[in-house]
Amino acid sequence: MRINVLGVGFDNLTMDEAVERGMELLRTPGPHSVVTPNPEIVEICRENLAARQAVNGADLVLADGIGVVKGARMLGTPLKAKVPGIEFAAGLMARMAREGRSLYLLGAKPGVAELAGRRLAEQYPGLNIAGTHDGYFQEDGPVAEAIRTSGADCVFVCLGAPKQELWMAKHGAETGARLLCGLGGSLDVFAGVVERAPKFWSDHGLEWFYRLCKDPRRAGRMMKLPLFLVHVQREKRRR
Ligand code: UDP
Repeated sequence: MRINVLGVGFDNLTMDEAVERGMELLRTPGPHSVVTPNPEIVEICRENLAARQAVNGADLVLADGIGVVKGARMLGTPLKAKVPGIEFAAGLMARMAREGRSLYLLGAKPGVAELAGRRLAEQYPGLNIAGTHDGYFQEDGPVAEAIRTSGADCVFVCLGAPKQELWMAKHGAETGARLLCGLGGSLDVFAGVVERAPKFWSDHGLEWFYRLCKDPRRAGRMMKLPLFLVHVQREKRRR
C-alpha cells in the first residue's frame, strides 16, 4: 500500500528495492512509468488535478529528497528511505548496462542530452544510448516517433514538473518503451552542466539550500518547501 503525503501516494521502498522494481518493470511489456516527486511537486499536485492523476497513476512513485520523508514521518506514516531520482537513475543504468539495455535521453536545453549521452556511455559500458532529444520541442508526435524508431527499452524524460509527468501519461505508450522515468534536471547533472550538491549537504538534508545558493533564481520555487511543511502540519492536526 502506498503512503499518502498530501494526496500523493508514495511507494515505501529503499533505493535497492526501487531499482529492483524498476528492472522488473523493464522486463515486463510496457509502458510503465516512474515519477520522483519532491515537496515542490507534491504542492503542484495539490493544485493541479491532471498532474496529481499523472503522478499517482505511475507504476513507481519515489520519494525524491528529505522533505517528503520528513513529511511522511510527521504524518505518522514513515517511509523507509529517501530515493533521489538521480541516484535511482544511476542504479538503473548500472543494471541496464549489465543487461545491454538501451536508453533514450529526452529533455534539457539543446546539446545537453547528447553530452550526457556521451558521458553516460563512457561511465556505463554496455549501456546503449539509443538516442537523444532536447526538451524544447513544439510537437509531441515526432518526438514520440523518434523514440519508437530508436527501439529504446527505457526513456529518461527530463522536462521539469509537471510537464514530464503529463508527457509520460499522454505519450508514454506511443514511444514503445517499456519504462519511462521522469527525472527533472538530471540530464544537466549527467552532462556536467549543473553540479550536484556535495554529499555533506545531501546527508544533512540541505541539498535544497545548496541549490538555492548556486542558483538564487530558484527562490520563488523554493517557497513551496515551507508551504509544504505548513500543509503537512495542518493535515497532521486534521488526522
Ligand atoms: N526543461 C525542458 N523543457 C521544458 C522545460 C524544462 O527540457 O520545457 C528542462 C530544463 O532544461 C531542465 C529540466 O527540464 O533540464 C528541469 O530542471 P529543474 O532543475 O527545474 O528540475 P528539478 O530537478 O528541480 O525537478
